[in-house]
Amino acid sequence: MASTIKLEIVTPDRVVLSEEVEYVGVPGVMGQFGVLKNHIPYLSALSIGSLYYKKGGDTKYVFVSGGFAEVDGESITILAESAERAEEIDVERAKKAKERAERRLKEQSEEIDYARARAALMRAIERIKTKERVGM
Ligand code: ATP
Repeated sequence: MASTIKLEIVTPDRVVLSEEVEYVGVPGVMGQFGVLKNHIPYLSALSIGSLYYKKGGDTKYVFVSGGFAEVDGESITILAESAERAEEIDVERAKKAKERAERRLKEQSEEIDYARARAALMRAIERIKTKERVGM
């Protein structure tokens, strides 16, 4: 087996994942970056999107939103505001969240926090995309 790195994904509520994996692709704010064992120490803010990891010939996807990725040679820790493994994503819920956010963004009102609505829309779109990536 290829050499592995410990991937931990943690949110304020729970440990989403804790596994030895071969490769991790992370959606950083400066773009996607890849992590293998013996990576140099690195810290990046996360964007809203899909993280993926490779293990034993499989590629798996995890939605992440907000927070940081911290890398050293032996491990990568993702501290996210929210994260779900692809199989945990409720697509119907994400579609409803998307419609809600789109409706808000169309309204012209001082009451609406547009930045918040845009972030909610991005989360919904990226959850749907993460689910769609499974099976690709
Ligand atoms: P919603 O409006 O549907 O709550 P949201 O983007 O505001 O969506 P978050 O604030 O990112 O939700 O997350 C709140 C909690 O709900 C987190 O624990 C997150 O993992 C979970 N969650 C949100 N949307 C989904 C979904 N579509 N499928 C599974 N879990 C979800």
